[in-house]
Amino acid sequence: MTAEPPAGAQPAGDLPLDAHLHTEQSPDSAVPIDVYAALAVERGIPEICITDHVDFDPRDPAYHYSRFDDRERVVRGAAERWAKQGVAIRFGAELTYNRRWEADVRDHLERHGYDYVIGSVHDWPESPYWPSRVQSWVVGRPLDEVVAPYYAEIIAAARSGLFDTIGHLDVVKRYLHPRITAADLATRPDLQEPALRAIIESGTALEVNSSGLRYPGAETYPSAAVVARYRELGGDRVVVGSDAHSRGSFAARLDESYRHLTAAGFEALTFRRGGERVRIDVPRSTPNGTVDALRT
Ligand SMILES: [Zn+2]
Ligand SMILES: [Zn+2]
Repeated sequence: MTAEPPAGAQPAGDLPLDAHLHTEQSPDSAVPIDVYAALAVERGIPEICITDHVDFDPRDPAYHYSRFDDRERVVRGAAERWAKQGVAIRFGAELTYNRRWEADVRDHLERHGYDYVIGSVHDWPESPYWPSRVQSWVVGRPLDEVVAPYYAEIIAAARSGLFDTIGHLDVVKRYLHPRITAADLATRPDLQEPALRAIIESGTALEVNSSGLRYPGAETYPSAAVVARYRELGGDRVVVGSDAHSRGSFAARLDESYRHLTAAGFEALTFRRGGERVRIDVPRSTPNGTVDALRT
């Protein structure tokens, strides 16, 4: 939830969905919803999901930042205005998960209905990944111990059964950079396997989040190799998002997330539109790397 670097506008191609977007109702974005809607029309993306942050620790930035009713009113209002222009806007949220406030997350979801819910593990206040602590945490520790607290929360998030999707699976690599790089972590693919298995067993979807391409390490969260491993382990539910917090990062490099899915053999996204869980065809990659939309 830190400010993101600029990401030159990229042509999105004929992509069917961007399921992770932050508007001015998140503390770290200033984008009015109509800006994303207009960009979706311009790029020919027929469906977007607004997933503003909801935090549960009073020290986190999105704690009581915006009210549910206000968020719902704005998103539903925009959905109504933009439907006739050919873009469907869904009302989602990105909830910051941690075991210590799981009961609050559960309570929130029992009382509030979203079309779609992402559960994400961010850098919580007591975590060893906090900027002032991360250096002493990584020095002299083997990689498996370094990432263990992060993946313990991811596994618990999946097993909670609260979420449609686990967001940006390995964003911990951003917190560890540059002390431990994406390349270092890629040498230990086994470290993510328990999390992948928990996601599969719980029926939660895995998000391939293209925002990682805009940060050092320049990989999706998770990387193509991890997406492929998830498939090998029996993973079937996947979804994509650009995690845009600015106009310029709307759907940015989202086509690369889609290509990772195609390369791993996935033919459909798993998404939810309120009561209805849906499968959406993944565009087929062509040899030159462009995509043909299969969805009509
Ligand atoms: Zn996030
Ligand atoms: Zn996000």
